[in-house]
Amino acid sequence: MDFRFTPEQEQFRDAVHRFAARHLAPGARERAHAPGYPWDVAKLMARQGLLGITVAQSDGGQGGSLIDAVIAIEEVAAACPRSADVVQAGNFGPIRVLAEYGSASQKARYLKRLLAGEGVISVGMTEPEAGSAVTDLQTRATPDGDGYRVSGAKVFTTHSAYADVVLTYVRFGPGVGGIGSVLIDTRAEGVQRGKASAFMSGEEWAELRFDNVHVPADMVLLGEGGFKKQIAGFNVERIGNTARSLALGRYAYERARQWAMQRRQFGRLLCEFQGLQWKFADMKMKLDAGQLLLYRAAANADRGFPSAEETAIAKAFCNQAGFDVANEALQVMGGLGYSQEELVEYCLRRCRGWMIAGGSLEILRNRIAEAVFERSFSQRG
Ligand SMILES: Cc1cc2nc3c(=O)[nH]c(=O)nc-3n(C[C@H](O)[C@H](O)[C@H](O)COP(=O)(O)OP(=O)(O)OC[C@H]3O[C@@H](n4cnc5c(N)ncnc54)[C@H](O)[C@@H]3O)c2cc1C
Repeated sequence: MDFRFTPEQEQFRDAVHRFAARHLAPGARERAHAPGYPWDVAKLMARQGLLGITVAQSDGGQGGSLIDAVIAIEEVAAACPRSADVVQAGNFGPIRVLAEYGSASQKARYLKRLLAGEGVISVGMTEPEAGSAVTDLQTRATPDGDGYRVSGAKVFTTHSAYADVVLTYVRFGPGVGGIGSVLIDTRAEGVQRGKASAFMSGEEWAELRFDNVHVPADMVLLGEGGFKKQIAGFNVERIGNTARSLALGRYAYERARQWAMQRRQFGRLLCEFQGLQWKFADMKMKLDAGQLLLYRAAANADRGFPSAEETAIAKAFCNQAGFDVANEALQVMGGLGYSQEELVEYCLRRCRGWMIAGGSLEILRNRIAEAVFERSFSQRG
């Protein structure tokens, strides 16, 4: 076992570090509070080869590993927390599922724009009546001529306010076996965006309503029976959420560490008070432990897809660790930490969301318990 990066990974990390320090660190605070998607960052990253890191070269990607993509999140977030979302969107989420399972025509239609940083793809799983119980989803795909008619609604969809296309979980038939997914162009007739809303993080979302939307047969991504494959791909998205939780916790920790070495009270530096030293020791232990779990899940990924169990353990731990560390860092920075002058409060708000998004802490624990007891537990009454 070797806990060090390979020379190639070190090289890649240094390159992303230099890129982020030069292009992303300036303006990081403004970017975190700006509405909309940072398209300028997306285009810069496309040129730098940071979108499609794990996508095959034959599909326009870099042919790298999941660990490479995690390294990119870490280095980018250390300079600009908000820009880490662009690494997520260009590598971890539905883009990875599209690259893995999409047909040549689906990839030709969407992947090029996404990898150029000119468009973004959302994943629409959650519905008003199907959150944690995602398999209760009701959005229906009914055969119609050369394709399907899709009707239903999705909520809380990240990027829904401006995405080009939504990888939409739909029901072709009854039960879990009836679930699959289609690609819905947001400009298609019958697609409506509801009232704009925002998460606590400031990220915008809008309800997506599909009213008898025509979806051509060649825009079915995974047909009936595709749910398992879909969720296998979704574990990649979870790794991105895991990496960002830890990276934003680390960003807050680093700000607080610097502050503790320069701020004086009672004639002493903050870092000289034992009560604060112990907070930093706890923060460091959480960050290091989380990093090992994250790297285990990413390094063991089979053909780029991590195991459900290792992903659940890493995500549950890092979501909590990122939030706890950001919270303690904010405390150490006092009024400054609570102010928008610093990005520590932003990191805290973002980390809070990942404790719910992409599998809540409770649902992940349910998954881990199944591994512990080597059996499944129905959550239904
Ligand atoms: C920042 C953010 C981004 C998101 N982005 C997307 C996106 O891009 N696409 C998308 O489809 N969705 C997205 N979501 C939605 C997210 O996936 C859901 O919010 C999540 O699955 C929980 O569903 P819910 O909100 O309906 O809560 P509910 O399912 O109603 O759960 C409420 C609470 O009960 C707990 N709970 C539920 N069932 C159980 C159980 N069996 N055992 C123990 N506890 C349980 C939950 O953990 C939670 O704490 C996002 C959410 C957030 C916060």
